[in-house]
Amino acid sequence: LVSQRSLRSSSPRFFAVTQAVERSYIMIKPDGVQRGLVGEIITRFERKGFSLKGLKLFQAPKELAEEHYSELKERPFYPELVKYIVSGPVVCMVWEGPGVIASARKLIGATNPLLAEPGTIRGDFGIQSGRNVIHGSDSPDNGEREIALWFKEGELVEWTRNRTHMLAF
Ligand code: ADP
Repeated sequence: LVSQRSLRSSSPRFFAVTQAVERSYIMIKPDGVQRGLVGEIITRFERKGFSLKGLKLFQAPKELAEEHYSELKERPFYPELVKYIVSGPVVCMVWEGPGVIASARKLIGATNPLLAEPGTIRGDFGIQSGRNVIHGSDSPDNGEREIALWFKEGELVEWTRNRTHMLAF
């Protein structure tokens, strides 16, 4: 009989993966807010196990939307994209955890919701790239850049998820 322990150490499928703790800027876009998907989306990130470090409902000014998407300035859809982002309130969030940048992109799904897998947020709730419900940072550097753009100092909370909080004594 092979014990589970020796199976683990001998099988290449069980190698240890260590991931850097990162922060991602996640934003529920105006269509996600208008459609009442805020709770559903937050639930998916909580259920995955990431930690919420910042959260606010916010009406973005045009300049901020332009700056956020400045890398896409030359794209034909840029003016429409900026209009879309300022068309109503967004929910700004910072989620933290190991590998959260790539993991959040998986939870979110492909840019074009028609190509996004069912089970992803865009795959389950979207139809068009121009109304794709949610944003997630595409690199750790962009994550930090976007957090600095959308949150002021003092708006983020340092805390640790701790199951003992379920008990009063
Ligand atoms: P992602 O949000 O998946 O990182 P991009 O950075 O390429 O995707 O694009 C930023 C946003 O611009 C998308 O989420 C989407 O809202 C919008 N967008 C991208 N491509 C198109 C397109 N072809 N038509 C309309 N809007 C688009």
